[in-house]
Amino acid sequence: NLMIWVLFSVAIMTTCLSAEPTVVVVGGGLAGLSASLQIISDGGRVILVEGEGITGGNSAKASSGINGAGTETQQTWESLIPPDLLEKDTLTAGDDENDKKLVEILAVNSADAVQFL
Ligand SMILES: Cc1cc2nc3c(=O)[nH]c(=O)nc-3n(C[C@H](O)[C@H](O)[C@H](O)COP(=O)(O)OP(=O)(O)OC[C@H]3O[C@@H](n4cnc5c(N)ncnc54)[C@H](O)[C@@H]3O)c2cc1C
Repeated sequence: NLMIWVLFSVAIMTTCLSAEPTVVVVGGGLAGLSASLQIISDGGRVILVEGEGITGGNSAKASSGINGAGTETQQTWESLIPPDLLEKDTLTAGDDENDKKLVEILAVNSADAVQFL
């Protein structure tokens, strides 16, 4: 729509005029906001483009928790959930149609992701 197009044009112009590296992040849910925070932490600049009137996306609706293997909480338990079990469970939940490489990355990095959140 027009608003997104205007914001995108402003983002491109700002990128061209700025001496500092500027990244345009599309989407203000968990992924986009996390990426924005990381870029800012690394000294970059961010222009966040969000299609709705408010940031949050589906992330703002999530309320049941997040799956993780080997999290800090689990380390206080007698047995840890290993990443390969989370990987298997995720593949089963996705009827084995998931991208297996992405599921592996998700499972292996899940403890760090939960810690970050
Ligand atoms: C009702 C509900 C409950 C859920 N509960 C859980 C839970 O308990 N635990 C869990 O782990 N997961 C849960 N999920 C799944 C979880 O919310 C998503 O996996 C997660 O939010 C995805 O994050 P994201 O940043 O990729 O997407 P989103 O949070 O959806 O963010 C995407 C953003 O991009 C914007 N956008 C999209 N296209 C454009 C465009 N072309 N231009 C500009 N902006 C755009 C959208 O408006 C949105 O703000 C739930 C999902 C729903 C819908």
